Amino acid sequence: MPRPILATIHTAALRANLQVVRRHAGDARAWAVVKANAYGHGIERVFEGLHAADGFAMLDLGEAQRLRGLGWRGPILLLEGVFEARDLELCSRLGLWHTVHCEEQIDMLAAHKTHEPHRVFLKMNSGMNRLGLRPAQFRAAWARLDALPQVDEISLVTHFSDADGARGIAEQFAVFNAACGDLPGERSVCNSAAVLRFGSDARVASDWVRAGIVLYGSAPDFPAHSSTAWGLEPGMSLRARIIGTQALQTGESVGYGSTFVAERPMRIGVVACGYADGYPRHAPTGTPVLVDGLRSRLLGRVSMDMLTVDISDTPGAGIGSEVTLWGRSAKGGVLPIDEVAASAQTVGYELMCALAARVPVVVDTETADA
Ligand SMILES: *Cc1c(COP(=O)(O)O)cnc(C)c1O
Repeated sequence: MPRPILATIHTAALRANLQVVRRHAGDARAWAVVKANAYGHGIERVFEGLHAADGFAMLDLGEAQRLRGLGWRGPILLLEGVFEARDLELCSRLGLWHTVHCEEQIDMLAAHKTHEPHRVFLKMNSGMNRLGLRPAQFRAAWARLDALPQVDEISLVTHFSDADGARGIAEQFAVFNAACGDLPGERSVCNSAAVLRFGSDARVASDWVRAGIVLYGSAPDFPAHSSTAWGLEPGMSLRARIIGTQALQTGESVGYGSTFVAERPMRIGVVACGYADGYPRHAPTGTPVLVDGLRSRLLGRVSMDMLTVDISDTPGAGIGSEVTLWGRSAKGGVLPIDEVAASAQTVGYELMCALAARVPVVVDTETADA
C-alpha cells in the first residue's frame, strides 16, 4: 500500500468558483490564471474544471505549450511577456498574447519577423513598482507599439498592490485612467481580490479580469472575508491517515524539540504528512485539522514525514482515520486552506503552490459536493 496521503482536485469546485468570479465581474471576460502549474493543482488536472474560462493566463511558455497540447484553442496570455527575443517565435507559432512591460520587449517585437501580428497587453506601473512602464512613458510606448507592423491589437493592463487590503485600488486606478483613459483598447486591471471587492463597478471589471486564487477556493482577503463568505469551495483537499497513536501522560512531550507538553493525559495521532509533502513546517500547535471530519488541532513540531494531532476528543479515531490537512474531508466537513495558512503565518497561495511532487494527486470529477 502506498503511503496514505493524497491530494484531491475537485473539478466541480473549480467550475463553481469560476461562476463566483463571473457573478462579480459583470460582462467582463475572465482569464483563469494557471501560473505555477495552476497554483500547484496541475494544469492538466484543472483544465476540465476551468475550460469554461474565456482564456488562460500564465508566465511560463512551457505551461502555455501544455495548454495548447490539451487542445485549448482560445486566448492564452503571458503575464510577464517574453523573456528573450526567440520566445516571440513561440508566441507566433502558438498564437499567444503577451504582456509588454518594458521598452526592451518593444525592441524585441520591432526586430521580430512574423506573418501574424501579435496581440499585446501593454502594462502600466500604476504604483506597485514591479513590472510596467511608468505613466509618463506609457503613451510613447503605446504609440511605438501602434506603429509596429508586428503588433495587431493593443490592450491596456495594470496590477494592484492592495486590492485585498485597506488601501484598496482607488489611487492606482485613478493613476491608470489619468494616463490612458482616452487610449483605445481593452482593459484588464483586476486580480481576484479586485474582482470580488470592486468588480461590481463595470469600469473596474472591464474588459478582462485575471482570476487566480479565487478559482482554487481561497479568499484573497482572508480574514476580512472567509472562502465561505465569498461562496467559494476548496479546489484541492489534502488528506492523509493516522499511522500511529500514542497515549501521553501529563508532562510528556511530542516530537522534535519537545515543544508541546501534555497538561493532562491525552491521545495523539501520528499522521502521514510532513513538510516534505508541502505542509508548512512553521504551523504551530493549535493549527486546525479535521480528524474523521471533525475539527482538531496540530500538536508540536511538524517533521519531514509526519505530524501529530490531538485525538483526545475524537472517540473512535485511531490508525487508519482520515486527517484533512486542508480542503474537504471525505465525510463532508471543510477546513479552509486560509485558516491553516494564517496559523502558519502565510497565505493559501503558498500552501497550494508548495504541494510536493511526492504527494499523489487524483482528480474528483464527480458532480458537485453536497
Ligand atoms: C498572479 C496574477 C494574477 C492573479 O492573482 P490572484 O490574486 O491569484 O487572483 C493576476 N494578474 C497578474 C499580473 C498576476 O501575476
